[in-house]
Amino acid sequence: MAVAGQLKRVFFEKEALDYPMGRRIYQRIQDDGYEIQFLRSHNRVTGIPGNTPREAFFQGKSTLVVGVRKTLDFAPCKPSAHYQLPLVTGCEGICEYCYLNTQLGKKPYTRIYVNVEEILNQAAVLISQRQPEITVFEAAATSDPVSVEPYSGSLTRAIAFFAEQEYGRLRFVTKFAYVDSFLKLNHRGHTRIRYSINSDRVIRSYEHRTPSLQQRLQALSRVIAAGYPSGVIIAPVILTPGWQQDYSDLLHQLADHLDYSPKMDFAFEVISHRFTTRARSNILDVFPHTDLPMDETTDRKYKYGQFGYGKYVYTGELLEEMKAFFREEINRLFPQAAINYLI
Ligand code: SF4
Repeated sequence: MAVAGQLKRVFFEKEALDYPMGRRIYQRIQDDGYEIQFLRSHNRVTGIPGNTPREAFFQGKSTLVVGVRKTLDFAPCKPSAHYQLPLVTGCEGICEYCYLNTQLGKKPYTRIYVNVEEILNQAAVLISQRQPEITVFEAAATSDPVSVEPYSGSLTRAIAFFAEQEYGRLRFVTKFAYVDSFLKLNHRGHTRIRYSINSDRVIRSYEHRTPSLQQRLQALSRVIAAGYPSGVIIAPVILTPGWQQDYSDLLHQLADHLDYSPKMDFAFEVISHRFTTRARSNILDVFPHTDLPMDETTDRKYKYGQFGYGKYVYTGELLEEMKAFFREEINRLFPQAAINYLI
C-alpha cells in the first residue's frame, strides 16, 4: 500500500463520504487499521502537530486528507500542457529540493479529491471548448499522484476517461512504482507516463522515502510494455564533481532496462538544478545539515524571472557543458529519441 507505514494520521471531510470513491477509500483505510478523524470545515486542516519547521514538515508529510475539490477552475500549465488536472495535491516522498516545498505551506499533507467524476466532466468541457485542437492535461503539477494511487485509483479512472477523448490527452510524471492498475487499461495511447530519475548519488542523498532507481526503471519498462507513450525527466541535474560519470551510469542503466528502439514514443526532459532564495531558506529550515549545493557565490548566476523574483542557475559555461554532454549521450544511446527540454 502506498502510504502505509508512513502514515501517521488520516483526515476526512464529511462530504467525501457522499461520493463512491470517498466511501471506498474510507473502508480501505479502516481495513488498514488507521484511525480516521473528521475535519470540521473544508480547507481548515487543524490537528497536525509540529512546533518546529522540521517537525511540522515531517508530520505534514505523514498526513493524508481525503476531501472534495470545490473549485473546478483548472490552473494553466504552460509550456508542457494546457491545464493542470487536480486529482491530488502533495506527495508522500521527501525530496529535499522539491518545488512543492514552497507551495504547500509548512505542513505539506497529501490530499486526495474524491469527486473525480466532476473533475473529469470539467476536463471534458475544456476539451470541447478547444476542439478540434488537442487539449493536454498534466496530473502531476502539484503532486505525485501515483504515490497514493493504490488508495485513490484516480489516475486509473482518468486514463480510462482520456482513452475516450478524441481531443484530450493526459500526462503525468512520477517516481513511484504503483502502476499495476494501469497495465491492463485500453489507454489508446492518450496518456503519457514519464518517470523522474536521477543518479544513484542524488537519489540516495536527497530523494528520501521514494523508490530506488531500479524500482522506477522496472515500473517504466512495464508501462512501456503496456504500450504507453513514455519518457523520463532527469531533474534536478546536480553538477557536483564526478557528475559526468554519475549521469553516464544513469543513462546506461536506463538503456539496459528499456530495450530502446527508435520506433518507441519516448522523450527526454533534462533540467539543471536551480533554486530561489525562498526555497533555500525553506530547505535549510527543514534540512539544516543538507549538502544540497546552494551556494550562489561559486558556480551560479542569477537569472531574473518573469514575475519579478529570480533564481540561481548554473553559469553559462557549466550549462553548455551539461547540455553538450546530455545531447551527445542521449543521441548515442537512444537514437532519434526526442529531447523536449534541455535547460
Ligand atoms: Fe516532490 Fe516529486 Fe519528491 Fe514528491 S517525489 S517530494 S513531488 S520531487
